[in-house]
Amino acid sequence: MKIICIGRNYSEHIKELANEKPKEPVIFLKPDTALVQKNQPFFIPHFSNEIHHEVEVLVKINRLGKHIQEKFAHKYFEEIGLGIDFTARDLQLELRQKGLPWEKAKAFDCSAVVGDWINKNQFENLEALNFALLKNGEKVQEGNTQHMIWKIDQLIAYVSQFFTLKIGDIIFTGTPSGVGPVKENDVIEGYIENKKSFSVRIK
Ligand code: MG
Repeated sequence: MKIICIGRNYSEHIKELANEKPKEPVIFLKPDTALVQKNQPFFIPHFSNEIHHEVEVLVKINRLGKHIQEKFAHKYFEEIGLGIDFTARDLQLELRQKGLPWEKAKAFDCSAVVGDWINKNQFENLEALNFALLKNGEKVQEGNTQHMIWKIDQLIAYVSQFFTLKIGDIIFTGTPSGVGPVKENDVIEGYIENKKSFSVRIK
């Protein structure tokens, strides 16, 4: 399986990192080795002094597809989740300044937390999902999918022009504002529509 991540999909987050608003979705990949195994902690890697949390709504692909039309995109997923796109922000800035790819900052081992999957029919409206991230019990990120620049169906259509989507692939749909650092012994918990999706300890 592969993990396809969307960058800069919420205006407020683009502003907080002083990035330009993209004309098309920004895409990068994480390998399957980026997954944090269930109930395992996240270990801060030695190559970064600034690991940021980015809480994101996830989509799990359940059919093989390429060049998927937006109007059919809803047929390619049944489950929605919540996860963390851990980012070595210091390294990412360095790579960006040099015009180099982001993989070392974004796709390293254990950079992807994937919470519990929920059938999409359990939600009233996928385009108005509330989600939040708590750090040590305090809310640090809060988002609603209505603020996505590109909606889930648009993302599936766009991504599948470049990458064949396979069963089990996961799309990270971008983070809202409020990204920030994690340190040893922090506990971060993700909630989607007030339902707990994951809890991860930082080591
Ligand atoms: Mg992200």
